[in-house]
Amino acid sequence: MVIFKGGFSYKRVKSWGLNFMREDYEKLLKRAHSQLPREVFEHKRFEVPKARSGTIGMRTYIVNYKDIADALNRDPQHLLRYLSREMATAGTVDGVRAIFQGKFRNDALDRLIQRYVEEFVICPVCKGPDTKIVKERRLSFLQCEACGAKSSIRTI
Ligand SMILES: [Zn+2]
Repeated sequence: MVIFKGGFSYKRVKSWGLNFMREDYEKLLKRAHSQLPREVFEHKRFEVPKARSGTIGMRTYIVNYKDIADALNRDPQHLLRYLSREMATAGTVDGVRAIFQGKFRNDALDRLIQRYVEEFVICPVCKGPDTKIVKERRLSFLQCEACGAKSSIRTI
């Protein structure tokens, strides 16, 4: 052990040094955080709304369809095109409901809506749900209102 003049041990001086470094690091971190948009740190995990569906004859109804599209802040026709295509069937929006040809289970519908959200709602950069779809020429993009990222998505 090296003894400095005045009786401080090397070990003690070294631990002071580390404390100073830690304070600097925390200050830096705070500054870095304050420069990022608030939303990046505030967004909670986005809850995907659950479908309430039923079948009548050979048709499947999603009775809370409009609520789902509204919660996702998406055009009901856009979600309809996605679901119809994935289920390889025809679908229509009828007021607040959507109707599909064929019988589909509720959990299968929920899985598809979840996948839609992952591809067409959630920002791939900050993982936040505050996005909108913008079209430029024939291309579609997911524009994030929280972090500003613009990510290309497929056009459906
Ligand atoms: Zn984002």
